Amino acid sequence: MNKLTIYIDMDGVVADFDKAAREHPDFGKKGFRPDLTLDFTKLEPIEGAIESVNALVKEGHDVLFASTAPWDYPQSWAQKRIWIAKYFPKMRKKLILTARKDLLIGDILIDDHAWNGAKEFTGQWFHFGKDGMDWKYIMETIKSIMTVGKVWIKEDTLSETGVKVTEGFLSHNLRKSKNSNTSRGDYVLDN
Ligand SMILES: [Mg+2]
Repeated sequence: MNKLTIYIDMDGVVADFDKAAREHPDFGKKGFRPDLTLDFTKLEPIEGAIESVNALVKEGHDVLFASTAPWDYPQSWAQKRIWIAKYFPKMRKKLILTARKDLLIGDILIDDHAWNGAKEFTGQWFHFGKDGMDWKYIMETIKSIMTVGKVWIKEDTLSETGVKVTEGFLSHNLRKSKNSNTSRGDYVLDN
């Protein structure tokens, strides 16, 4: 079976940063910076995250966490390392802390924000949380990529410039089919 290289953001994707921020006693007060205050080891997992990540690993994919930790709060770097070991003990070394996610080489980046290079990631960025994209949706999409060998291509949409663009899945393990005659394009697993 072909495997995918999948990067997973932490806050807002596997760790519930927003919930911890809302529950902090200083939430709503002027100047409160949850990113420089919270104990990241205490964040609760996002619904479906643990089972989904474990399932992806079990299916043979190369799964790594790619997170941007606050630079002015170095304790958070250690806290993220501890959080991963707590919930994913076998993945404790699969953690990359970076503000340049565009430099990561892989197929899929699951991230809830475009920041820190996510939007420029050269594989497919799965915008977690947008348009109902939750773990269930992501798992079904990856399953369809692996079983059908091609993926659903999003409907044509008009870009800001009025030009029609078709979004599709194309990354280093997935290549546009040479035999495709369809205008929408089919994507196949590159063996
Ligand atoms: Mg995030």
